Amino acid sequence: MAQDPIHIVGGGLAGSEAAWQLATSGVPVVLHEMRGTRGTDAHKTDALAELVCSNSFRSDDAETNAVGVLHAEMRLAGSLIMRCADAHQVPAGGALAVDRDGFAEAVTAALEAHPLVSIAREEVATLPPAEWGQTIVATGPLTAETLAEAIRAETGAEALAFFDAIAPIVHFDTIDMGKAWFQSRYDKVGPGGTGKDYVNCPMDREQYEAFVAALVAGDKTEFREWEGTPYFDGCLPIEVMAERGPETLRHGPMKPMGLTNAHNPTVKAYAVVQLRQDNALGTLYNMVGFQTKLKYAEQVRVFRTIPGLENAEFARLGGLHRNTYLNSPTLLDGTLRLKSRPSLRFAGQITGCEGYVESASVGLMAGRFAAAEALGNAAIPPPATTAMGALLAHITGGHLATEEEGGKRSFQPMNVNFGLFPPVEVPREEGKRLRGKEKTMAKKRAMSRRALADFSAWLAGERAPLPIAAE
Ligand SMILES: Cc1cc2nc3c(=O)[nH]c(=O)nc-3n(C[C@H](O)[C@H](O)[C@H](O)COP(=O)(O)OP(=O)(O)OC[C@H]3O[C@@H](n4cnc5c(N)ncnc54)[C@H](O)[C@@H]3O)c2cc1C
Repeated sequence: MAQDPIHIVGGGLAGSEAAWQLATSGVPVVLHEMRGTRGTDAHKTDALAELVCSNSFRSDDAETNAVGVLHAEMRLAGSLIMRCADAHQVPAGGALAVDRDGFAEAVTAALEAHPLVSIAREEVATLPPAEWGQTIVATGPLTAETLAEAIRAETGAEALAFFDAIAPIVHFDTIDMGKAWFQSRYDKVGPGGTGKDYVNCPMDREQYEAFVAALVAGDKTEFREWEGTPYFDGCLPIEVMAERGPETLRHGPMKPMGLTNAHNPTVKAYAVVQLRQDNALGTLYNMVGFQTKLKYAEQVRVFRTIPGLENAEFARLGGLHRNTYLNSPTLLDGTLRLKSRPSLRFAGQITGCEGYVESASVGLMAGRFAAAEALGNAAIPPPATTAMGALLAHITGGHLATEEEGGKRSFQPMNVNFGLFPPVEVPREEGKRLRGKEKTMAKKRAMSRRALADFSAWLAGERAPLPIAAE
């Protein structure tokens, strides 16, 4: 019997990879891409999988870098995006950078040539109709307005954001807890808390004034003209607050009230930077209220002047961008289906991952999950010990949701990083001899080895038949 096609809306990094994974599994695909009939504010061509900005897929180091591990897993899974990136690589040291035109043309040509792929150059302006059956929506950070509004109507107004407001995230084990301490403001326990839910970094007056001056002077990224300036009170970049006056931050996110320095209880801090647990594993903490347009290098330099964060390693740096994305931890199930309408699966940056490689990898998973279902197999997510599984687990539930002041949601886009992986034991022989940075590198190597072994095992077992239901 002929297989019904799976429809995919959006032929970017995620949609193209999802289409390839379906087609190479033997499932026909109709890929709907609006470029060719209308554009977006950032894309310049009609090619599938166009890279809208940098031409880098970041580090290709699969031993000590989480995005390098993601590359390696994608290659193991037969990724079209990685195959074309490797074929169109340009010299870039340890990074995988590509000739953008050659890369996008190769992805387009491979999909156009595949007998199971049809490409429809058209905008999908409503939620996919029921007769399409299983559909993957991969319309990206610049999803066309009418479809975005239709998704918003389905998910609820608060569930689809049009801008992100990203505060930096720090690896907990790089915070100096000899200077910082755990405490919630006024020791409030609240629902689900302990009274010690925040990491607090104290500043004296001199440190605070130097910090405010550094924020004001720091080099910033400008908004693109078409992005507008999405500032609203309650979500101002930290440097814009600093520009409003030297006392603003001390009365805002850096207020010292209700906090007592556990290391020095008799001296009141002049200002306090608070970090809140970001993932269920407790390995990542976000800097509360520190969304910023400071350039990345500047963020690292200025934020490392905060007492306790001198040696901080950042899992994610801050930013504010035009970005359409779902509150996925509450909306999506473990295989990226919309809980309220399981025939719709989401993929790519609209799910709240961040970056070309991450978007393509979520497309890869969505394509494989949809193929498994279409072929009557179980859709099994990769284990959380793999780079793909760790990213998926974060998007679909690992992020620790908190209600911000004013009822704002806390989920913000995430790139892949080792903080998302469950902790690993460094083999005794290796770990015993190592200290400091060397030990951290050994941990990264152990996580990478485990990820690649577990990913290969997942691929091997993925096509296992559905378990027979018990009588
Ligand atoms: C301006 C900008 C710069 C970025 N720079 C970088 C960077 O340098 N490095 C990095 O790693 N990441 C970057 N990103 C983030 C992100 O990783 C990329 O946007 C990535 O392309 C996301 O992949 P995607 O497949 O989810 O979306 P996209 O690649 O954007 O693909 C979505 C596709 O859906 C199509 N589409 C949208 N709506 C509809 C509709 N209603 N009907 C039919 N088709 C539709 C679009 O035309 C597009 O082709 C950037 C994002 C933006 C917006």
